[in-house]
Amino acid sequence: MTGSPSYGFDTLQIHAGARPDPATGARQTPIYQTTAYVFRDADHAAALFNLQEVGYIYSRLTNPTVAVLQERVATLEGGVGAICCSSGHAAQIMALFPLMGPGLNVVVSTRLYGGSITQFSQTIKRFGWEAKFVDTDDLAAVEGAIDDNTRAIFCESIANPGGYVTDLDAMAAIADKAGLPLIVDNTSATPYLCRPIEHGATLVVHSMTKYLTGNGTVTGGVVVDSGRFDWSASDKFPSLSAPEPAYHGLKFHETFGPLGFTFHGIAVGLRDLGMTLNPQAAHYTLMGIETLSLRMARHVENAEKVAKWLEDDPRVEFVTYAGLKSSPYHDRVARICPKGASSLFTFGVKGGYDACVKLVDSVEIFSHVANLGDTRSLIIHSASTTHRQLTPEQQEAAGAAPNVVRLSIGIEDADDLIADLDQALARATA
Ligand SMILES: *Cc1c(COP(=O)(O)O)cnc(C)c1O
Repeated sequence: MTGSPSYGFDTLQIHAGARPDPATGARQTPIYQTTAYVFRDADHAAALFNLQEVGYIYSRLTNPTVAVLQERVATLEGGVGAICCSSGHAAQIMALFPLMGPGLNVVVSTRLYGGSITQFSQTIKRFGWEAKFVDTDDLAAVEGAIDDNTRAIFCESIANPGGYVTDLDAMAAIADKAGLPLIVDNTSATPYLCRPIEHGATLVVHSMTKYLTGNGTVTGGVVVDSGRFDWSASDKFPSLSAPEPAYHGLKFHETFGPLGFTFHGIAVGLRDLGMTLNPQAAHYTLMGIETLSLRMARHVENAEKVAKWLEDDPRVEFVTYAGLKSSPYHDRVARICPKGASSLFTFGVKGGYDACVKLVDSVEIFSHVANLGDTRSLIIHSASTTHRQLTPEQQEAAGAAPNVVRLSIGIEDADDLIADLDQALARATA
């Protein structure tokens, strides 16, 4: 079945993009472990290389297993197309690549995954790109940061790790007014909890490494295109609106319409940057997505129980879970992610840095790892690990101060998770 939007989420997460293998009838999507595809004849090859016919040439660009995953995620997000990439960070570069150029900038939320802050504040400078960081709760600051050289606004739906939910409708209104695309990293929420395109996002990016695959087996990313942005409305996006020399002057937006961004991402982005997802990884991610709704519902249920227990514990200073009634973002959760605020949050430990380090060394069920969105529960002290490259100000802004511990709540028994944190807190604060 191809993803008819009339089917429900639970049906689409299993079936969208897939059909029995035409050669063998295999019910599960085969892993097409092949680099190249035989052309029917020389004319067929020429048509494929000219982008006059859609088909398979070489697995750096397209692969049938990866194509099923692209259609699956695009359908779940309500987009028209998707480009799978080798990691979440690759997806972020692939989302920006057709929009940016030397001297151009992207307006970026201060509340982002630590690795994204490093990528945006340091690494993209090497391309001559600039990121302007703003507090996305200060709408005047977001508008004020936009200038003639701005080409996109970038934020996370549920921000990792500070329990922050972005007002996507407000971001989309600002982006619309400025004629800019809004890019939303939807990793922590997944399309089960939040569909940013319904709130006006142009592009959605994911680290599929996290909840989409769901069990810590894969590194992967994806860019989903809403198909709604008019890339030709201004002269700001020549990669999509102007003639492309490498394809005999073809204009991607004019030729492929709503699929212009997706085709560019494959035919130019993957072709030349090579940040391709391999078919094995696509297979594992497809297996994960089949149970996405079941896992996310349990992740949320467990996170709510653990967060409430921590909030009432005297050894704990604060809990930043957006799913708690005490969260300043409680009303926003009801609008942006009504099925729950995912299972990622931070809490403050009385006793600061040293107590946090003792806590992560004392847990037994929780794993001390630099990952999130796994079936098993995970713990990390961000200030000494994922966020240690950041300045103290950036740590504070990202919700990763020295007394803060991050949890990614898995789908085990909530009572066991609470008992584990109880004994570890006892040792850490003794
Ligand atoms: C992990 C993560 C990334 C980076 O993804 P990788 O797959 O590790 O490259 C980006 N954004 C968020 C929100 C993440 O959690």
